[in-house]
Amino acid sequence: MFNLRVPLAARDEVFLMNTLTDAQLVVSSDVAVLLDQIASGEWHPGNGVATETRDALDLLWENGFLVADKQSEQQALSDYLTGVKSDSTELSVTVLTTLQCNFACDYCYQGDHGDYNERADKMPLETAMRVGDWTERELDRVRPERFVLTFFGGEPLLNLPVMYLMAERAARACEARGIRLVTNIITNGLLLTPEVVDRMLPFGLNGIKVTLDGDRDAHNRMRPLRGGQGTFDRIIENVSRVAGKCRIAIGGNFDEGTIDSFPELLRFLKAQDFAEKLVKVNFKPIQRPESGTPKGIIPLTPIGAKENLRGTCMTSVGSGAGKACDSCGGLEDKWTFVREETKRHGFSTNDGVPRGMCHVHRQHAHTIGPDGSLYACPGFTGQLAMSTGHIDDRKESWRESALEKFARLHPWKECGDCAFIPTCAGGCVAASHSQLGDMNLPTCHKVHFESALVALAHEAASKDAAPQAA
Ligand code: SF4
Ligand code: SF4
Repeated sequence: MFNLRVPLAARDEVFLMNTLTDAQLVVSSDVAVLLDQIASGEWHPGNGVATETRDALDLLWENGFLVADKQSEQQALSDYLTGVKSDSTELSVTVLTTLQCNFACDYCYQGDHGDYNERADKMPLETAMRVGDWTERELDRVRPERFVLTFFGGEPLLNLPVMYLMAERAARACEARGIRLVTNIITNGLLLTPEVVDRMLPFGLNGIKVTLDGDRDAHNRMRPLRGGQGTFDRIIENVSRVAGKCRIAIGGNFDEGTIDSFPELLRFLKAQDFAEKLVKVNFKPIQRPESGTPKGIIPLTPIGAKENLRGTCMTSVGSGAGKACDSCGGLEDKWTFVREETKRHGFSTNDGVPRGMCHVHRQHAHTIGPDGSLYACPGFTGQLAMSTGHIDDRKESWRESALEKFARLHPWKECGDCAFIPTCAGGCVAASHSQLGDMNLPTCHKVHFESALVALAHEAASKDAAPQAA
């Protein structure tokens, strides 16, 4: 069920990938035929199995392409899903230091529009102290190998005292417990300075993700200040000043109106002195909130850019192009185009094939709002009714009932025999909730995954064919 394949016609070979084991193989076409014959029950060993066939069978079995039967495969999936859910090797906490933002992006209800920033929550230092207490309790309870602390917002750098305090406390707590701390910041980049980076480096700073929404003109149109001033030049200058101090990734959002500017943005980035220092460049479609979207939902920012954020959030926007979602369905092919352009310019980017269930499915991944409310993932922040707890450990029946809903999530049950279930698990639950009104309905990007798989297969095949270095 979890085998994916892409024929490599020019080489008479087939690329195989198994989404449950994450194995990838390039095999000759007759091995793929053998796999089909076994699946359909047409293959019989007869009077013996040739050594070559035996080797192929061993290879397929060891990598999970062959399984005993459907039932054991279903059991393996169920064990895998349970394992991901309860995985305690990593405690992941995303802290929204504030919901305020210094940008006035028109696609985002947050930000410097009207009196939003006067009303939007900002975490007080006293709450940050209590988040620190809660974190230490969690570290003692979960005993993870790794603590991933991500600062997000709003714009997290608008509340530096809280970020510094929490990062410092996390560093001390992890050091005392022998836990590896991995700190990340997701920012619009306007307030990013070498001083901020220097201050955070001793606190496990792993990477900073900065958003650019197109070339200078497009970005300035999409992500202006309140008075309409552009922000592109300042962000680029800030990135150039901190590049080399820590890992910098560039993320960004596109829509029909800005997509054409991304090749120019990539050309521009490539020409910068810091180009070689960018660890990842990854762009995603924008999800524009539907009119019925509950106020308070955070438009998501891509955060799956690096190893330590893997699986955090599959989509930039928690979007889905499934049954009821028409917001980015037309952008699937553009998404592929942007990914290919990014690669063509020599930047490392996500390959577009999902590689892990996102945070919403993980028991030991939390998002904390400025008031100390806990959420299953950033996509639900601000919707108090969806809060799964509070840093004070207060017991409130509505939070407990939300927690239970998240613990019982199962959108993949609607996905039939889809081979992507182990890595996609039914898509973005936040999108399902806001757009389909039901967290257990899938939001599907299968078309995009499939085209990304074809690109991945050809890339793997070309590496396979490349002469080995002496
Ligand atoms: S449910 Fe959606 S918004 Fe939440 S972590 Fe997963 S992909 Fe991101
Ligand atoms: S949402 Fe789509 S791609 Fe994801 S598991 Fe379901 S059917 Fe497959």
